[in-house]
This record gives sequence, structure tokens and C-alpha cells, in this order.
Amino acid sequence: MPDMPDLTRRRLLAAGTFAPLALGATRAAGQQAHGTPLAGDFLLPDRPGEKLRWAVVGLGNFAVGEAIPGFIDSRHARMTAFVSGSPAKQKDLGSRFGVSRFYDYANFDSIANDPEIDCVYIILPVGLHAEYTIRALKAGKHVLCEKPMASTSAECEAMIAAAKAAKRQLGIAYRIHFEPTNVLARQLIEHGEIGDIRFVSADHGFNADPQYGPHKWRLEKALAGGGSMFDIGIYGLNTSLMALGREPDELSARYIYPRDDPRFREVEGGIEYRLRMADGVSVVGSSSYSWNPYISQQRYMGSKASLFMKPATTYNRNTITIEGNGPTREVGAGNPLTQFAAQIDAFSLAARANTPHKTPGEMGLRDIRLIEAMYRSADNGGEIVKL
Ligand code: NDP
Repeated sequence: MPDMPDLTRRRLLAAGTFAPLALGATRAAGQQAHGTPLAGDFLLPDRPGEKLRWAVVGLGNFAVGEAIPGFIDSRHARMTAFVSGSPAKQKDLGSRFGVSRFYDYANFDSIANDPEIDCVYIILPVGLHAEYTIRALKAGKHVLCEKPMASTSAECEAMIAAAKAAKRQLGIAYRIHFEPTNVLARQLIEHGEIGDIRFVSADHGFNADPQYGPHKWRLEKALAGGGSMFDIGIYGLNTSLMALGREPDELSARYIYPRDDPRFREVEGGIEYRLRMADGVSVVGSSSYSWNPYISQQRYMGSKASLFMKPATTYNRNTITIEGNGPTREVGAGNPLTQFAAQIDAFSLAARANTPHKTPGEMGLRDIRLIEAMYRSADNGGEIVKL
């Protein structure tokens, strides 16, 4: 991935009001060289003896492949416990990652008596997020819960209420807010690189395989909450709103999938949606469980230039291409793999200070409310829903 062109870097660094971006860009360049994580707060020193202690709940595909390895690069967090239905996985991962405290789903509440756990990371199927988040909060722990937050907005509200009652932090694991290329895209847009933003498009999808365990539960409403929009479309929704920094005031949506496909008896296989902002900016998005190959793309159209990201929200490679307002240029901001440690570190710092995480429960609730509104619109032939 090419580094940021000098022209763009100079322009960014030159702007005096630009301290956070300049710092981020410099740090990001350093990361490329050294592979260090993009921490939530760059200015805090490492305090190895004061790392927050984490329990990871659910040792599935994403936990083992991405989230758990993220702790290796973390500056402010370390894993102390695993919660799982599989003693074999606990033993294997425990020996690989130096974790020796094991719980299962039945004795989970006894983490309340474990002083070696400060934070709990919920990486379970969506239908279990609310139950385990609330149990962890009642046990007095801070909770980072995977996206989407829960199956319904009522569950999200109960999770937020539980965090308030327990006086603990609740974050939703929207890793894109910590992914260097997306952070840079947002900053470029915010600081006028493409002029006034006029239009955003977001397309995210893959082909769900009902024979594959992690896809199987995604097709069952009780465990998944919803369909493609819950699981993969939410990246486009959340990322677009992050980049725009404003909220829609109406939306409409339609289902887009073969209605006779047996995979989609319980959850929707695809959706197209349009969000409208008060100032005339639209976000048009789509999501699908029946597309090949996997696709993740974001396009931001402005009055001076357009910024295109494909892939946009992957774990290990994301790119920015800017067209217009000068020669077409590719911009990279550092190693995307740092997003996992950065997210864990940012949440650890929020938990330590007991201040809200960058992507709090309220953001997760907003997104579930928007998706519920999309379903209402699609159920009614694409009618406009006022928000
Ligand atoms: P997996 O099916 O691979 O893992 C889920 C794990 O949950 C299982 O391995 C199991 O762990 C545990 N579990 C407990 N009860 C059940 C049950 N009834 N059915 C199935 N699993 C159960 O799913 P993923 O890892 O793909 O997804 C887990 C979470 O992570 C979801 O919320 C998903 O949305 C999120 N995710 C986030 C991503 C991101 O980029 N932020 C990417 C992918 C997923 P054990 O055997 O240890 O008990």
C-alpha cells in the first residue's frame, strides 16, 4: 500500500488547527515502520503494571482469529480469563496466550468474585449479547460488546440501563473507529480534502454458507437478531455516519434478495437503503448475504473530489483513492491490524477513568434503531420513515 503522498501530508501537517490529524498522521507513519498499535490516547505513557485485566467471552472465529491476537500489541490491556463452553479451546488458547482462569456460561456470574477481571469482551452470537452484557455489568465489570449491539432496540436500552445502574462503561466494538485508514478518511473529509460532501455510498456483502458454523447462526433469527444488515450492512451504516459526523432525519429501504432462497426464511438476505440528512446529503447503501465475492466499499463524493475505499472495512488491508482536485492518488495510513489493539486500549483507558468509550452503547442503540426503521420501511414497500 503506497504511503501518503507528500502533497497531502504537507497540506495536513501545515494546517495549524490540525493538531489531532497531524499527530495521528505522524503516529500512523511511525506505525508503518514499527508496527506499534494506534492507541486511543497517544499521550498517555505505557504503564505495564497497570494494564486492565480482560475476560474474553466466546472463543469463536472472530475471537480466535482477530480479537485475541489484538491483545498481544495492547499497551493498556491483558487477558486473564476465558469464558467458553469448550474446555479444550480454553486449554489450547490458555497455553498459547498465558491465560489460566476459565469460566463457562453456567458459572459466568461468579466472575463478580474475581478481582483479576476488570473488563469483559462479549464475542458471542448477537442473540446472546444482551444477556451476557447485563450479567457482566451486574458482576461489576466494564463491558465491550461486539457489533451489532443486540437483537432489538429494547435489548440495547436494557444494556445501557444496566451499565448506568452498575456505574460501569459499556462500549460497542466498532473497530473501524480505530482503523488507521478509515480514521484518516474521516479526517480528510472533515478538513475539506474533497470539498463539501454531497453523497455517500456504502456496499457490504458476502455469500452466507449455511453449512459453516459461524454463518449458520447468522441465518437463525433467535441468534442473529436480523439478517445481512445486522451483520455486514452495519459496517457501511456506522462507517458512513462516522465519516459524515451527522445523523439522518429520514430513511427508506427495500429488500433485495431472491425470495425463494431457503437460506433466508428467518432473516433478510439483502437490503438497499437511503438515509437523508437535513442538509440534503444522502447515504445510499446496500448489504447482502448472497453476493460473490465478499465486497466492502465506501465512496464519498464531494464538491472538489471523491474519496473511494475498496476494500474499506477489512481486518488487514484498506485503501483510499482520491480522484479530482489534483492527480488521482492513493493514500494509506498504516497497518490496519493495529485496529484491534487500539480498540482494546481505548476501551481500557475509558474503563480506567470510568469515562465513556469512543463508541458507546448509545451508538450501538442508534444503529439498531436505524436498522429497525429500515425493516419497517422495507416491510411497507419502501415508505419513507421519519426519524
Ligand atoms: P462464531 O460462531 O465463530 O463464534 C461464536 C462463539 O460463541 C462460539 O464459538 C461459541 O464459543 C460461543 N457460543 C455460545 N453459545 C453459542 C451458540 N448457541 N451458538 C453458537 N456459538 C455460541 O461467530 P463469530 O466469531 O463470527 O461472531 C461472534 C461475534 O463477533 C458476533 O457478535 C459477530 O457479529 C462479531 N463479529 C465481529 C466482527 C468485527 O469485525 N467486529 C467480525 C466477525 C464477527 P465457545 O465454543 O467458546 O463457547
